[in-house]
Amino acid sequence: MSSPTARRILLIDDDRLQHALVHGFVGRFRGGPWELEVAADYATGLKKLLSGKYSVCLLDYRLGQRDGLELLREARQAENSTPVVFLTADASEETDDAAMEAGAMDYLVKGELNPRILEHAIRYARKLGETMGQLKLLATRDALTGLHNRREFDRMVADECQRAARFGHPFALVMADIDFFKKINDTHGHQVGDEVLKHVASLLAGQLRVVDRIARYGGEEFAILMVETDRKSAVEGMHRLFALLAETPCQPEGTDLTLNVTLSAGLAVMPDDAAACSELIALSDKALYAAKHAGRNRVVTAHSLKA
Ligand code: GH3
Ligand code: MG
Ligand code: MG
Repeated sequence: MSSPTARRILLIDDDRLQHALVHGFVGRFRGGPWELEVAADYATGLKKLLSGKYSVCLLDYRLGQRDGLELLREARQAENSTPVVFLTADASEETDDAAMEAGAMDYLVKGELNPRILEHAIRYARKLGETMGQLKLLATRDALTGLHNRREFDRMVADECQRAARFGHPFALVMADIDFFKKINDTHGHQVGDEVLKHVASLLAGQLRVVDRIARYGGEEFAILMVETDRKSAVEGMHRLFALLAETPCQPEGTDLTLNVTLSAGLAVMPDDAAACSELIALSDKALYAAKHAGRNRVVTAHSLKA
């Protein structure tokens, strides 16, 4: 099966002679045709790379006044995972180490290039990139719902806490738990329970903005991070989610069941409610507990518990 990124190479190099050289090499690859696109400066190169359209990127180590390492770091920061092979004029151990550290798959010396070496490096970089992508998926996603897992979510919340402290942007954290979920399992079986989990996960994920983050935090518990969102907007967002859930019952495939599902949620905001990440999570949990206690199917804010 071919993907849209299949067999497309991006070359980022400020030396036009190098473009022609690589073009010639790519034309002589034995394993079939590849498309080659070039970018001659940092900004164009980064923009193209971030489009995610390429299966591999050949990156010049010295890119005018700036360097390829910086570009690669910037791309990784933006969550781009295109495998990158460095092209460099000199072969020093320091350059090699720095390239590896920045997340490059390989490092080739320009003077030693030929079609065979380049094709080989590209094949390996691509395969390694695929394998790393699969590993990352396994390590960061929940297998049943496809949402982020708890570990990944904790990492994202810690990142967001740092950003909030540095730039003073507020953000909201919500812990939401399905009401009486055990009853669904006990009455209809675990398979139906799993369908309900997937149903709730996809409704939540579909409703959130792309910048927000959602995870399956535990069995039937979801965690939501709403960036640059204050208490009022976060509560409104949760009410919209609850309304959507109320009008979209779960109808598991292969059954004639129509199951109404509700959530209870606890909400806390940074920096108003908490000064540290762990405190924020503890407060949302406490608010969730209060929502359960108050009769379920509702959002409780950590703020209201203080009053
Ligand atoms: P409450 O309203 O107080 O949250 O009640 P509840 O029944 O939802 O909560 P409780 O903690 O008693 O039960 C949660 C159940 O979720 C128990 C557990 O077996 C089930 N569960 C956890 N993970 C999964 C899963 O992956 N699939 C299914 N089908 N069930 C799961
Ligand atoms: Mg529950
Ligand atoms: Mg629970």
